[in-house]
Amino acid sequence: MKCKRCGELAAVKLPSHHAGFCPDCFEVFFKRQAETAIRRHGMIKPGEKVLVAVSGGKDSLALMRVLTDLGHDVDGLHVHLGIPDSSDPVCERTEAYCQENGFRLHVLRTAEVGLAIPEVKDAVHRPICAVCGKIKRHYFNRFAYENGYTALATGHNLDDEVARLFANTLRWDAAYLSSQGPTLPGEGRFVRKIKPLYRLTEFETAAYCFLKGINHWKAACPYSGGASFTGHKKLFADLEDRSPGQKTAFYEAFLAQGRPHFKGASRGEGQDTLYACAQCGFPSSGEVCGVCRVRELVAKRKGEAD
Ligand code: SF4
Ligand code: ZN
Repeated sequence: MKCKRCGELAAVKLPSHHAGFCPDCFEVFFKRQAETAIRRHGMIKPGEKVLVAVSGGKDSLALMRVLTDLGHDVDGLHVHLGIPDSSDPVCERTEAYCQENGFRLHVLRTAEVGLAIPEVKDAVHRPICAVCGKIKRHYFNRFAYENGYTALATGHNLDDEVARLFANTLRWDAAYLSSQGPTLPGEGRFVRKIKPLYRLTEFETAAYCFLKGINHWKAACPYSGGASFTGHKKLFADLEDRSPGQKTAFYEAFLAQGRPHFKGASRGEGQDTLYACAQCGFPSSGEVCGVCRVRELVAKRKGEAD
């Protein structure tokens, strides 16, 4: 197969775009997809400072690279979770990559705010990933807000978005469907959330990392019971195989035609009002936010053990 752009030998075949690209032209394609996402959804304002949530995996490092190459003013934040045999090497690898590439990276250690994930795991009686996700979202938003970033970019790709949309649709979860999308507007102490890679698949992001020599962390977290929405992703992979372009069609049609119907959907009686958490001041559905409550549980358990 020949490269659609320059006619050289193609290195990456993309059936959903009826195209193949050589390495250089694939990079042009990748950047254009991110650029289109940013422009169509007004993700980044001119001169705006953007914080990138950097886990150290392929999506977040690809995002850091492409936003920088597109000329945006980005810094990264890595949240070190204090997980043995995982958080240290992930953090070291991420710091090394950012240093080699001249990216500014902040590191926030949850152990320093009383929330080392192994201790959280012992203190709460809920699946750890739900709590860990809440803690990460809280600190990414909080760090952005407190340090003057007005947009927070995450590396969610098309496969992530389609799988989440499918899960929300299976439950007809109107509140989630009303707010799912590539951009979530900022309000009060919530900074704007943006997903500039939402038009690119997992395969395309992996190919970009491979061709750009991005040395990302590949091992799964020891607490993970498998990647999220794995079953839904497999379903869509089958659909895509049989009929290339289905993922994009499903998601883009939802944005254009489906989502408007769910606008303003309620989360349930009394659940839409947000208060300022009495402890941290960040938005909360109750007097004290979920993260501060978890911190209290961890402190209490430690106190009992001492
Ligand atoms: Fe946290 Fe679960 Fe992800 Fe591990 S797999 S980093 S515990 S959300
Ligand atoms: Zn709080």
